[in-house]
Amino acid sequence: MLSFTQLKSGLRGEVIEPGDSRYEEARKVYNAMISRKPRLIARCADVADVITCIRFGRQHGLKVSIRGGGHNAGGLGICDDGLVIDLSLIKYVHVDPAAKTVRAGGGCTWGDVDHAAHAFGLAVPSGIISTTGVGGLTLGGGLGYLTRQFGLTIDNLLAADVVLADGRSVVASAEENADLFWAIRGGGGNFGVVTSFLFKANPVKMVCAGPMLWEMGQAADIMKWYREFIVRAPEELNGFFAFMTVPPGPPFPEPLHFKKMCGIVWCYNGPEEQAEKILAPLRKFRPPAFEYFVPMPFPMLQAMFDGLYTPGLQWYWKADFVKELSDEAVALHTKHGAELPTLHSTMHLYPINGAAHKKGPNETPWGYRDAIWSEVIVGVDPDPANKDRITAWAKNYWEALHPYGAGGGYVNFMMEGEGEDRIRATYGHNYDRLARIKAKYDPDNFFRVNQNIAPAAGVNVSAKAG
Ligand SMILES: Cc1cc2nc3c(=O)[nH]c(=O)nc-3n(C[C@H](O)[C@H](O)[C@H](O)COP(=O)(O)OP(=O)(O)OC[C@H]3O[C@@H](n4cnc5c(N)ncnc54)[C@H](O)[C@@H]3O)c2cc1C
Repeated sequence: MLSFTQLKSGLRGEVIEPGDSRYEEARKVYNAMISRKPRLIARCADVADVITCIRFGRQHGLKVSIRGGGHNAGGLGICDDGLVIDLSLIKYVHVDPAAKTVRAGGGCTWGDVDHAAHAFGLAVPSGIISTTGVGGLTLGGGLGYLTRQFGLTIDNLLAADVVLADGRSVVASAEENADLFWAIRGGGGNFGVVTSFLFKANPVKMVCAGPMLWEMGQAADIMKWYREFIVRAPEELNGFFAFMTVPPGPPFPEPLHFKKMCGIVWCYNGPEEQAEKILAPLRKFRPPAFEYFVPMPFPMLQAMFDGLYTPGLQWYWKADFVKELSDEAVALHTKHGAELPTLHSTMHLYPINGAAHKKGPNETPWGYRDAIWSEVIVGVDPDPANKDRITAWAKNYWEALHPYGAGGGYVNFMMEGEGEDRIRATYGHNYDRLARIKAKYDPDNFFRVNQNIAPAAGVNVSAKAG
């Protein structure tokens, strides 16, 4: 029998168990396809609470999961029949404008960081939705609107406070526990609970951004133009290619509502005239059927899709890294893209060149530094009755394109249970090093509710962190 009161008395935060009126809400994750029933949910208020939870979990032999923003599509922030270390109350952002750094608590979302940093004309590269957690996105890599100019989120991580599997709290940085610092820049939640992230912040204030859309019949032309353009484009420009169904609302004109189209969502961090000059050849090549490319504050761009992709939808996604977009691959994309099963379903090709290529393949566990895109095929719908349909579409699409991929896929665009081979393929040559570091910091795989890296056998685990 678990001592609920014992845990509760040791925490400043809240402990929620089944039967509590808050339980149903607290166990929810962003992807409504996932429903897990933990034994206890500990909403930690500070580092001391996290330490207490880890000790309590160990003492009672509990499975433990770490919840940051709850956005993981595989629902990896929540576990069945175990203890959830929920970081959502550890929410603070300190911006140091002189040092150009941002420190964010382990439970922040990117919206929290964007809001705070924007006031100082700064931003940390993250993703494309502001409600995503800083924790999971950063620890898996982090790619989004600023990737081509400032690199992945992990390329901007300077240090982290990590509570380890034995309950000690340590700093991971280039100077302290450098092996741990290497591992958490892509290795996910395998190595401990990050209670605080210190990031480099970059000059970003107003950006020229938004989508350009074309008829599906022009998709092959646009994709082929885009594959040549994006590898040569200035790094201040980011643009991801998408298949989408036009949502029925502003800014989209009524005749386009519910129409399947292809598009590129741009973000240019520079003067508008310059952006116009760079994109003029595209407008001449194939004038877009619609565009909403306008100057806007960076946080507005970050939140542009929040209203469409609200929590509580059904999600199923599959991903791959892509080095080359051949004509055959383009033909398959246009075939499957034209079969988008629901309004919210989509396919995105995120560019990961430019600044993201400036780190070597061993500098972080994120080994695919030579890939040009991260492809994600996403079946999404509000109706649980469509779960199988969106899943089948995403799987079929991915299976058709997988032979044209680079091998692995972005770890943050995976469901749970894709298998060890898939995780190995994703980390490639860096997997064995990750497994050795895992054996040093978490020899009994205490943190295993994640895209798991099993501790390497035969590593001297007496070597304590440091
Ligand atoms: C709508 C949507 C849009 C997205 N867009 C992007 C995007 O543009 N770019 C991109 O790179 N990714 C994107 N993602 C993927 C996202 O990075 C992952 O889903 C990520 O896992 C979410 O992090 P979270 O903290 O919200 O998740 P959670 O579900 O809370 O956590 C997921 C896992 O991360 C680990 N974790 C989280 N926080 C911590 C912590 N503080 N310490 C230790 N471990 C922790 C744990 O292992 C946990 O199991 C998107 C996801 C969604 C659903």
